[in-house]
Amino acid sequence: MEKDIIVMGGGPAGMAAAWACAKLGAKVLLIERYGFLGGMATAGLVGSILGHYLNEEEPAVSGFLKFLIEKTNKMEGCEKWENAFKKYGISFDSEILKISSEKLLLEEKVEILYHSFVCDSLCIDGEIKEIEIANKSGKMKIKGKIFIDATGDADIAYFSKFEYTKGRPFDGKTQSMGSMFKIAGIDEAKLTEEVIKEAGNLLKRLREKGELKIYNIGLGGKGSTIRKGERSFNVMRFSGDGTDIFDLTNGEIEIRKQIYKYWKTLKENVPGFENSYISQLPPNIGVRETRQIKGLYILTGEDILKGKKQEDSIARGTYWIDIHCPLGRTKNVHLCIKECKTEEYCLILDKHKDYLPSQDSLRPPKNDWFSIPYRCLIPIGSKNLLVAGRCISADHKAMSSIRVMATCIATGHSAGIGAYIALDKNISVDKVNPKEIQKILEKQEGLY
Ligand SMILES: Cc1cc2nc3c(=O)[nH]c(=O)nc-3n(C[C@H](O)[C@H](O)[C@H](O)COP(=O)(O)OP(=O)(O)OC[C@H]3O[C@@H](n4cnc5c(N)ncnc54)[C@H](O)[C@@H]3O)c2cc1C
Repeated sequence: MEKDIIVMGGGPAGMAAAWACAKLGAKVLLIERYGFLGGMATAGLVGSILGHYLNEEEPAVSGFLKFLIEKTNKMEGCEKWENAFKKYGISFDSEILKISSEKLLLEEKVEILYHSFVCDSLCIDGEIKEIEIANKSGKMKIKGKIFIDATGDADIAYFSKFEYTKGRPFDGKTQSMGSMFKIAGIDEAKLTEEVIKEAGNLLKRLREKGELKIYNIGLGGKGSTIRKGERSFNVMRFSGDGTDIFDLTNGEIEIRKQIYKYWKTLKENVPGFENSYISQLPPNIGVRETRQIKGLYILTGEDILKGKKQEDSIARGTYWIDIHCPLGRTKNVHLCIKECKTEEYCLILDKHKDYLPSQDSLRPPKNDWFSIPYRCLIPIGSKNLLVAGRCISADHKAMSSIRVMATCIATGHSAGIGAYIALDKNISVDKVNPKEIQKILEKQEGLY
């Protein structure tokens, strides 16, 4: 099999990338390990979509995101773009998103290959000649001209032996994993302020006794669901490496056990949850951080805090530096940027309680954004591989900002355009002029 552009991974970044280059006329193959698109938004039940928002007047991300929201809205899976972009997060129905995203890509004639895991690559002198996939039909080799790695874990860059980093600089530990899930049958009218407060106190007590391993004591919200009586929850943490198959397996088992215990607690103690039930568990544990490619530029935490603008900007980021404790601690540490070097205790909780930074001190200046340079998508030495989504070139702090879905969509959109230009001009990806990407982005309503 031989294709022009091969996109690997059909999550937020991969969907946007495949859509963008197909729209420009390239023959695109999208390879996805599951039987549906959406990545963490559907396979992880993650929501709402964050990072799209500059303020109530202006989005920070548009283009593919806008078209996806418009399509999903038409199919009754989220609200209108005009309203959605004015909010901090865009809630959606994960099941409708599976259908709307697929429709959007098929309309642009993207060829989709599901149930296929990319498991190897033949890369010579920085040029990928072919990749290998494994599926029910066996193993297949596919040749291509330009490749986009949107696997979240930089799997293809890794198989191709491009350099990468992982986790905190001093010990390589990555942000904790954690699964989102949905509970339905909730009588939401009963969730008064008083009930929420009482439930929070109970959950806190059980956490302190070690009976529940939860970091969040809220009662869920409308993230990847918009259905009445259903809420999505983001409360668990599991410390481990999302590229280690044993950690992934243990995480799945432990988190499911915790989810059951958590739901039983709510059902037995919290008014409104009497008739509730677990309506959806994710097919895949939520992985926040694994490999980052070492690219021609490494985005830093400082770039984010300063709202740094760069000439070769191809996407805007606005989200804060949101690091979930790599040790999986479930106390109130959510803004973990103090670098603790020991496993024995939490430096912030034990020594710096007063230091806990506020969200506002961890984001770009108010109403401002930072650039994501095109160079962050190009692994050092790569001739025909671009990387998009959460595994682009960024340090541990910067990745914790650019990992949100709207920003992943934005880097995916631009990777698709960059790949098309490289294909069209028959040049290597590092020779693509970012100004040309910006011009096409403007036509496709993207922001940079
Ligand atoms: C618990 C949790 C809560 C979060 N909360 C939010 C939130 O509220 N809002 C927000 O915006 N973001 C949130 N995030 C972050 C966000 O979901 C991810 O960072 C984002 O989805 C990354 O997008 P991506 O396209 O880079 O990768 P992914 O969404 O991971 O998509 C990668 C795709 O590639 C496929 N794939 C992977 N490897 C292969 C392979 N080798 N071959 C073939 N296919 C492959 C996967 O199946 C998947 O479909 C959260 C993450 C977690 C874990």
